[in-house]
Amino acid sequence: MDNKLLLIILDGVPWRNFRRLFGNLEGWVDSGEARVWKHRSVLPSISASCYASIHTGVSPQQHGCTGNGNVFRLSHDDVFSQVRKGGGVTGGVAHSFWSEFFNRHPFDPVMDVEYDEPDSQTINHGRFHSMTGYGHHNQMTPSDVDLFGSLTNLCLRHGLDYGMLHTCTLDSMGHRYFHDCQEMDHACFVMDEMLAPFIRRWRQMGYEVIVTADHGQDARGHHGGRDPLQQETALYYFGEAQGPSSDTVIDQLQIAPTVLSRMGAPVADTMQAEPFLW
Ligand SMILES: [Zn+2]
Repeated sequence: MDNKLLLIILDGVPWRNFRRLFGNLEGWVDSGEARVWKHRSVLPSISASCYASIHTGVSPQQHGCTGNGNVFRLSHDDVFSQVRKGGGVTGGVAHSFWSEFFNRHPFDPVMDVEYDEPDSQTINHGRFHSMTGYGHHNQMTPSDVDLFGSLTNLCLRHGLDYGMLHTCTLDSMGHRYFHDCQEMDHACFVMDEMLAPFIRRWRQMGYEVIVTADHGQDARGHHGGRDPLQQETALYYFGEAQGPSSDTVIDQLQIAPTVLSRMGAPVADTMQAEPFLW
């Protein structure tokens, strides 16, 4: 592997919330340690379809995941499988959809919450949670500091070359409280403050880091369609690569080939979008 990389996906954060409320990320943009671009999700701008597109680099019309009620083991190559082909070690700390898409379906609530499979052709080290029982009155999300800690633990113990972390906290908060409220201001503030020291640490450990979301949310906390508030989020990059001008809009399908090209892993033939870093 040429580089190690961590992809951090904060579910359901619209562009304006990243830019208004994440003071540490924005401070690193000002200091030159990070770059930020607008990132536009695929359609439908719904979580499962976006996870599948982020990691396979193909659209929902190609991979076939039409929404959160249609989760299955995908047939396309993805970032995990390509990093493995390149000889790298992979890990994920995420919602169980990620394990179902890229390792096994259906999700076994005992055997799949935690696994270490050095010979796996996709995910070597997985730590997953299902959020079973999730609803308006109970988010069923783990604390984000625990998730960030778990990913760091996997990096230290297992020498991950590629690690992916996904957390639903802010998506759940948006569905529950919407966006023009103290609850969401505070939730974004806390996420930024919890994440910041880990970014420092991951950089010191030699990782490039990408922080983004799967999609945005509109004023009513909705997403799924074409409204820019639903489709547009931010993408922050910490690393040594060159990127496009700051007014460039990154297409979600560019993420998978970009991660693989940064790492020196083979880009799958199905990943047709151009990498945005070089
Ligand atoms: Zn989502």
